Amino acid sequence: MKCSAAPGSKTSCQAPAASAPLADPTPIPTLPTRSTDCDWVVRVAVNRPLPLLDYRHVGEPPVPGARVRVPLGRRATVGLVVDVGRTTAHPGALRDVIAVIDSTLLVPADVIALLQWAANYYHHPLGDGVLHALPSTLRAGATPTLRPAMRWRALRDADDTLRRAPGQASTLAQLSALANGCNDSDLAPLGISRDALRALQKKNLVTCSVDAAPPQFVSHPTVALTDEQSRACAAIAAALGKYQAFLLQGVTGSGKTEIYLQAIAAVLTRGEQALVLVPEIALTPQTLARFIARFPRTVVSHSAVSDVERARIHLRCLAGELDVLIGTRSAIFAPLQRLGLIVIDEEHDTSFKQQDGFRYSARDLAIKRARERGIPVVLGSATPALETLHNAARNRYRTLRLTIRPGRAALPTLRVIDVRGEKLEDGLSQRLITAIGQRLAHGEQALVFLNRRGFAPTLQCHDCGWIAQCPHCDVRLTLHRQPQQLLCHHCDERQPLPRACPDCQARELLQRGVGTQRVEDALLRAFPATPILRIDRDVARSRDRLEQRFDIIRSGQPAILVGTQMLAKGHHFPAVTLAAVVNADGGLFSSDYRGPERTAQIIVQVAGRAGRDERPGELWLQTSHPDHPVINALLTGGYDAFAKLALAERAEVGLPPFMALAMLRADADSADDARAFLERLRETAPQTEHVQLRGPAPAPIERRADRHRFQLAALAHSRPALHRLLTALQERAATLPGATRVRFSIDVDPVDIF
Ligand code: ADP
Ligand code: ZN
Ligand code: ZN
Repeated sequence: MKCSAAPGSKTSCQAPAASAPLADPTPIPTLPTRSTDCDWVVRVAVNRPLPLLDYRHVGEPPVPGARVRVPLGRRATVGLVVDVGRTTAHPGALRDVIAVIDSTLLVPADVIALLQWAANYYHHPLGDGVLHALPSTLRAGATPTLRPAMRWRALRDADDTLRRAPGQASTLAQLSALANGCNDSDLAPLGISRDALRALQKKNLVTCSVDAAPPQFVSHPTVALTDEQSRACAAIAAALGKYQAFLLQGVTGSGKTEIYLQAIAAVLTRGEQALVLVPEIALTPQTLARFIARFPRTVVSHSAVSDVERARIHLRCLAGELDVLIGTRSAIFAPLQRLGLIVIDEEHDTSFKQQDGFRYSARDLAIKRARERGIPVVLGSATPALETLHNAARNRYRTLRLTIRPGRAALPTLRVIDVRGEKLEDGLSQRLITAIGQRLAHGEQALVFLNRRGFAPTLQCHDCGWIAQCPHCDVRLTLHRQPQQLLCHHCDERQPLPRACPDCQARELLQRGVGTQRVEDALLRAFPATPILRIDRDVARSRDRLEQRFDIIRSGQPAILVGTQMLAKGHHFPAVTLAAVVNADGGLFSSDYRGPERTAQIIVQVAGRAGRDERPGELWLQTSHPDHPVINALLTGGYDAFAKLALAERAEVGLPPFMALAMLRADADSADDARAFLERLRETAPQTEHVQLRGPAPAPIERRADRHRFQLAALAHSRPALHRLLTALQERAATLPGATRVRFSIDVDPVDIF
């Protein structure tokens, strides 16, 4: 081809110029085929499930990592330049780049390489995968102006003038606690109200000024570390500047966060930056305030941060304007150019794995990024994932242990309530209610955990046994109060509560099982004078309501918290001395092989909320299976004993982490289509002794939002063999009969088999 193909020539580009898929993750193969003497060939990642595409560009070439506008089909789209060269493997004429958007790179080469590696590893199209490097605003082609960073500072402490403005008073107190004030972009994650600040500004109690010379990090006097903490810190500090993965396994409240802070201080003194990944709902304003108070140039990127603000954060990262970035999953792709340490807090949390589209694990990519960059990475948890423990046992990670809580806080005692034969009051046993009452009488707080929101998970007809089912999913509708309705937790179907059974017209409908609202009711009846504070996704929709409830808890007065996972993570409630798990059984018999692991983690994390201050805590566990091996192991040897048992079981039956697992999934409007597609796919699979295919089988919830879902599991002793097979199957899937009627996906290292 000569490079003079007329602009707009109608060659091929409905099916755009695809370059060969990469065999090996990282290097971009140079394509030897044809050279175009006068033009540039620009390889671009576009926001579609496509490989990289080649375009022609005349004149000054764009830099890799910059955005370009390119034609795709009959439209124009924004893409990211991955490579610029002179040759292309594409047989037809190349279409021209429409415009170069950026004169400098938006994504550094190491991040592009990481994304390419990830797209390959997770069998996701390169184009779409690479674009994950950019927040949505930048991906759409816009560039927000980068205003100078503003910093809010308190000028005085609250005084009498704020007596009638408690909101402003607490805002001022929050800001006063931050020695260096607070970056404008951190207000939302800290839950600080901008309106309150403006009102305070008018009263000359706070100032807001340009961060002209940003406060440099200074070593603060900090708490005296325990011996265990000092050893862990020293180990991490000694590893700075080279690759080393650490598992920081410390019981809840053992001071892991303190270690992150001190390790980060060491990183910052080297002139480097730190990245801290946190689970989606665990980053509490208090934890964040601890980081910001020590490192003024801390920036947070999570769901409370707007799209435009995320784009600004991206630009600030590139400009080197921050020291510490705290973020959820996608922050692993942040363009930090002086990255010196990655911390993954609560590394066992499943929110680090993206569950749709580009199904990457931010934790596993953190290991990869640290290795490529030659820096340490710290995985912290009280309840490490079994695969992490396995890696540590094989010396891929170095384990640092914290076995005690600093100060006088003792670990809670575990008590099991066998609920067989007990009369339960809306899910609560009399013994538990008595125990809670005793704690309240001592002026303490209690926390009651159950993993189901709503009032009751089942509505059933007393006469004929009819059960309220979702019309679109294979699940029961959950009964909710306030507002009263039946709700599907999978597709959001809402129905009014029927007055009578639709089948037999009987009027007696039974509300079976318990959710958080029902336990809340029961506790209100048992303790009418005590604040009962429910915390779940329904409450969390209103940030104010949530914060009000947390304020009461922090005040330390006798109160009871009722809630779901949102309570189990990260919180520090000093006055809570009793924690209870209403029903420990659900996960023990789940069809997901990770059910027991999740259950054990939840139990230990819930226990960790109790007795964090000086008063000792206790954990009550209600179960119908007090002799279940998981409960037994936890009781006798804690999480370590459980992990040992669970790992032995996984080894015996051949499951991860002893085998590599990938799920091939298909969903369709009809069950037959989905199943038949996977059956055909299985038949075409190249025979290999290294990979076992199991299925196809219906997903545990087969129909969801009117889609029928089937899955084929691929288990392998050898990862390369698994990847070869997946590559082959992915290619075949596109051309199988019936492919247009199904949605097909591959999930490597799935965390959820649903
Ligand atoms: P984790 O992250 O393991 O749950 P944190 O770092 O949040 O633990 O520590 C729990 C509590 O103990 C916090 O209030 C923290 O300030 C305090 N703490 C941590 N290390 C020490 C120490 N060496 N001496 C005294 N208190 C400490
Ligand atoms: Zn009926
Ligand atoms: Zn539904």
